[in-house]
Amino acid sequence: MSKAKLVVISGPSGTGKGTIIKQILQRKKDVALSVSCTTRAPRPGEQDGVDYYYISKEKFREMIEQDAFLEYESFFDNSYGTPEAPVREKLAAGISVILEIDVKGGMNVKKKAADAEMIFIAPPSMEILKARLVGRNTETAEQIEKRTQRAFDEMKYQNQYEHIVVNDDLETAIQEVIAIIEK
Ligand code: 5GP
Repeated sequence: MSKAKLVVISGPSGTGKGTIIKQILQRKKDVALSVSCTTRAPRPGEQDGVDYYYISKEKFREMIEQDAFLEYESFFDNSYGTPEAPVREKLAAGISVILEIDVKGGMNVKKKAADAEMIFIAPPSMEILKARLVGRNTETAEQIEKRTQRAFDEMKYQNQYEHIVVNDDLETAIQEVIAIIEK
C-alpha cells in the first residue's frame, strides 16, 4: 500500500478536471476530495458540504484569523479556501486527499507541503478549451469572457507543476492521475 498523499489538481475550468476527479473518487475508496469553503453563492444543483461549504465573507475572515486554512485565494470578488483540519485528519487515517484548487492556491500549498503531488490537467489545445468554455450554457457572455481570460492565465502556470496530464482521452487521463496517486 502506498503512503497517503496530498494531491493538488489544478487546471482551467473546461479541461474536465471535475470529471476526472469524480471518477477517481468512485474507483478508489482510499482517496477523498477536500471540500473547500467559498463565499460565492451555490450554482443550481450544488450542495452545501458536498461541492463547497458556502459561508459568509465575515465567517471567511474569521477563519483566516484563526489560521484555519491550508491556503486561500480570492477571485471574481469571492474567496475560496481549503480548511486544513479535515485534510490533516484524513492523511493521518491513511486516506489520500485531492485538493481541486486554482494555480495560485496550488503554489501556496507547494510552499507549505513540499511533498504534495502537483498535477495540472491541460486541454489538448487552446482552441478546444475555448470551445468547451463557450459550450457551457449556464453562464452569461460576460462570465464566459472572464472565465476564458482566467483559463488562459492559468495555462501559464502549467510548467510549475511536476505532472501535466493532457485530457485528450478521458480514460487515459484518469489512469495517469491514478498512477501518480498510487506511485
Ligand atoms: P468555481 O467557482 O468554478 O467552483 O471555482 C473557481 C475556481 O476556484 C476554480 O479554479 C477552482 O479550482 C478554485 N477553487 C475551488 N476551491 C478552492 C480553494 O479552496 N482554494 C483555491 N485556491 N482555489 C479554489
